[in-house]
Amino acid sequence: MSEKKSIELYVKPAGGWDALRSSWQALREQQVVMKGAGTLLRANQPHGFDCPGCAWPDRNPHSTFEFCENGVKAVANEATSKRVTRGFFEQHTVAWLDEQDDRFLEAQGRLTEPVAYDATSDRYRPIGWSEAFATIARALNALASPDEAIFYTSGRTSNEAAFLYQLFVREYGTNNLPDCSNMCHEASGVALTEQLGSGKGSVTLADFEHAQAIFIFGQNPGTNHPRMLGELRTAAKRGCRIVAFNPLRERGLERFANPQSPTEMLAGGSTQLASEYYQPRIGGDLAVATALCKVVIESGAVDRDFIASHTHGHDDFVRSVLATSWDALERESGLSRADLEHAARTYIDSDATIVCWGMGITQHPRSVATIQMLANLLLLRGNIGKPGAGPCPVRGHSNVQGDRTMGIYEQPSPAFLDRLGAVFDFAPPRAHGYDTVAAIEAMFERRAKVFFAMGGNFAAATPDTARTHEALRRCELTVHVSTKLNRSHLVHGRDALILPCLGRTEIDLQAAGPQAVTVEDSMSMVHLSSGMNPPASDRLMSEPAIVAHLAAATLPGSRTPWPWLVEDYDRIRDRIAKVIDGFADFNARVRTDGGFHLHHPGRERVFPTSSGKAGFYPHALDERDERSDVLQLMTVRSHDQYNTTVYGLDDRYRGVHGLRRVVFISRADLERLGLRDGEHVDIGTVWHDGSHRVVRDFRLVEYDIPAGCLAAYFPETNPLVPLDHHAERARTPASKSIPVRLHRSAPA
Ligand code: SF4
Repeated sequence: MSEKKSIELYVKPAGGWDALRSSWQALREQQVVMKGAGTLLRANQPHGFDCPGCAWPDRNPHSTFEFCENGVKAVANEATSKRVTRGFFEQHTVAWLDEQDDRFLEAQGRLTEPVAYDATSDRYRPIGWSEAFATIARALNALASPDEAIFYTSGRTSNEAAFLYQLFVREYGTNNLPDCSNMCHEASGVALTEQLGSGKGSVTLADFEHAQAIFIFGQNPGTNHPRMLGELRTAAKRGCRIVAFNPLRERGLERFANPQSPTEMLAGGSTQLASEYYQPRIGGDLAVATALCKVVIESGAVDRDFIASHTHGHDDFVRSVLATSWDALERESGLSRADLEHAARTYIDSDATIVCWGMGITQHPRSVATIQMLANLLLLRGNIGKPGAGPCPVRGHSNVQGDRTMGIYEQPSPAFLDRLGAVFDFAPPRAHGYDTVAAIEAMFERRAKVFFAMGGNFAAATPDTARTHEALRRCELTVHVSTKLNRSHLVHGRDALILPCLGRTEIDLQAAGPQAVTVEDSMSMVHLSSGMNPPASDRLMSEPAIVAHLAAATLPGSRTPWPWLVEDYDRIRDRIAKVIDGFADFNARVRTDGGFHLHHPGRERVFPTSSGKAGFYPHALDERDERSDVLQLMTVRSHDQYNTTVYGLDDRYRGVHGLRRVVFISRADLERLGLRDGEHVDIGTVWHDGSHRVVRDFRLVEYDIPAGCLAAYFPETNPLVPLDHHAERARTPASKSIPVRLHRSAPA
């Protein structure tokens, strides 16, 4: 986390000594070398805590070091010795804090007590917990309708907190439960639920040991799911073909030196991961998947028995694919027929294939169509419901999948509401609520007046920054449950509260003793997580306790025993077992080593769709934007970033040091546009509605990316994405395909 500002080509493998160096620096920067090291030994361990980073599953049996470099950054930043005290808020106005960058805010340390915004001094002032809950309860109960309140959830929220939260919100009377899933894998949920009958991936970690090929689309695991590199390395070493499709050349898909391998570390060795690496143009994945299907169909290498007994819609699908010309497939994918046929051959030669994908697939207007085409590809060769095969959407936040399972969803099913109402003896609201995009619109149009966020950094994570910030500022009250200071605390309503909560690594002491929570990873493994460090302050509350106290204050007539439920979280889990499918005998099963796998019907080739079969869904290709001076921009994370949390200013694998406002561009486009590497440009959008957005002063960085394509970090480029630029049906903000033009920045 150097402060030098430079661009230097990175020639080393992912991982390796630099990963250890960066981990050490993270612990030192947070002044928790000893405490951090001790804490990390419990990360992702039985009887330990679940890493607050991403949703990659834990191996079982566990190794001693079940964490990666970015897990270290997440843990170090939570276990930090730095504190945001009342003195800090006394010293700084909100206006001044809002002028600081996201890294500065993150670096201030852990929040220590509840604070309320004082408009007179433009500062946050301490407030007692009871007064805080009373303030929120008053505001909520003063609303004309519960639908004037919005309850957002970040994917770090535990199952127990999420279950109580949705119960409180529904007892209060609304389904306005947008969550970060709306902005990441909503498209996966919509596509797979329709096609396979479940919105989740069917693959488990064990399948990575049996796959003959692993296809990876629109994902950068080296930064976003680093322990995945360990599985890919093991698979590559046993001859599994790893085929990557990503516009950007990502080191984490190319080569990896496992820090836990003495041979690779001492001998300076590494393992090649991707045996084939293709760089389609941004938004070209639908054409790529269609082309792979075309070659499979034309080769006849399809699983006829599987298709006949388990699918519907095959014939229409085949007709549509065969009618798609190779000219269109090459033009729209940005890849040559030869490359596409080569990749398809690798797919055909494998009898067990996993297809993984990340935001590079979901954050596009046609993401639902692309994901269904990837699933079509799997169905053609029966690659589901057998070892080593299946769809694997790799989720971001550590419990984003669990929150959705617990009922955090603005479109709950009638069956779920029936069961919830029966168990808790109330009539849940039936009207669907606001997703993230609709929530912003509702606040902007003053149809919503109270915004409550369980974790996250809504103001930075969302698109259309100016509109979102104005929407939040139009609220009568904004409330954030958080561990650290962030932008959303500074983009606040007329009244505002920050409620500091315990972190994953901290002991959660309730009346019945220290409590464990549960999470569900990206592969449907549900397991326990219990902290081991003393809380950062004695004025913090756990997320479940915050919800219970708020509910008791807001719903004095509720028959739900809120305080009793949080005395012992087993009581919450007993209620979950009664309401949520697959959680019977929850408390006993989750205490088995490693927890339990939530059943996925596709693993038994059971597809609870409207037809009772898996569906083939044809999708026509788009026409790409042919204007020569318009390029497609995708927003990405740097390696020193987790979602909107900026740990540092380096992006080691891409050679960026000490910089955030950079835009990656190909040499061909630099030459074609008469621009030079290192020059500074403004990035302006080109929307059909004529609206114009611009972000200024980005340094051009020549990079291995296809012509016509650009990449830059979010949240800096989120202002470019209008709210209505989202995925069809799923409404996931389409932050990975933004049409822009570049203009030289005005001299400073
Ligand atoms: S891979 Fe994800 S969950 Fe695992 S240690 Fe790294 S950041 Fe944490």
